[in-house]
Amino acid sequence: MERIYVTVRARPLSAEDAKSSPWRISGNSINLTNQSAKFEFDRIFGEGCTTREVYEARTKEIVASVVRGFNGTVFAYGQTNSGKTHTMRGSITEPGIIPLAVHDLFQSIEENSDREFLVRMSYMEIYNEEINDLLAPEHRRLQIHESLERGIFVAGLREEIVVSPEQIIDLMEFGESHRHVGETNMNVHSSRSHTIFRMIIESREKTDDHADADADSQCDAVRVSILNLVDLAGSERAAKTGAEGVRLKEGSHINKSLMTLGTVIKKLSEGTESQGGHVPYRDSKLTRILQPALGGNANTAIICNITLAQIHSEETKSSLQFASRAI
Ligand code: ADP
Ligand code: MG
Repeated sequence: MERIYVTVRARPLSAEDAKSSPWRISGNSINLTNQSAKFEFDRIFGEGCTTREVYEARTKEIVASVVRGFNGTVFAYGQTNSGKTHTMRGSITEPGIIPLAVHDLFQSIEENSDREFLVRMSYMEIYNEEINDLLAPEHRRLQIHESLERGIFVAGLREEIVVSPEQIIDLMEFGESHRHVGETNMNVHSSRSHTIFRMIIESREKTDDHADADADSQCDAVRVSILNLVDLAGSERAAKTGAEGVRLKEGSHINKSLMTLGTVIKKLSEGTESQGGHVPYRDSKLTRILQPALGGNANTAIICNITLAQIHSEETKSSLQFASRAI
């Protein structure tokens, strides 16, 4: 595995918040102005930056490597309202990383005339450690299985064959419009669930004459790779918001899966897996589902979304601490 690439993106502030911000960004480091300790990352994007710039910093390369047969995963991490969904899915003002990646992926496929491709997508959420299929809203509480043939997979998850970026955007819209079943507030729900957008790219070499091709060599030439683009649940701690009952349960599930993700990422960045050590993928559904596209020769990037506003400085600090563990 290559080193995990860690980017920080600060969302825009109101003029008032900008004046009182306790943070200072200098190149690729950020610190509280009253503290000398600095956090350093691969890139830090200030509020003037576009999602396209964030995308081009590393995700673009990961998308290209997925077309060449390597797995890849990109996460958006951060507290609720820090800009995760704006970064991954996009808003009215600018397209997100998902549409940018989808566009590039289809373009590379078109340019790669030596191979034929089959592209599938799935879209799921993990809410309270339950996996729900956003493309088939009736498929709820899906289970994770493992087989020799398929590796680790979510049983019963819909995988839709896709042939164009437009079709993918339509499918995502369908998924979004069905996810707040039983929920009164969509933002509340999305801040408490992890969303995994996945593309599965299968390709084989084109042969001049299919009829003559030897069955075994055809089989050897098949490549399957996965791209996961993940919008994580809000990282704010349950304790701080005074949660009780259901909210507390949600909070503790979120904390547990984000903590496990932090540990898995730390172990991977320390090279534990390649040295044969234990990586606790099984401690959360999120890491278990993503396992094939985190370890091994997969490429991983984290976009840590933050706000530089004074009132959120503790939360921003803990997000930066999380992201620092991956470096
Ligand atoms: P999260 O998914 O982390 O809860 P959102 O992406 O929903 O946060 O962002 C909260 C609000 O801030 C949204 O209205 C979003 O459009 C806006 N926003 C976030 N980041 C940016 C940005 N970089 N530029 C413009 N608007 C942004
Ligand atoms: Mg969101």
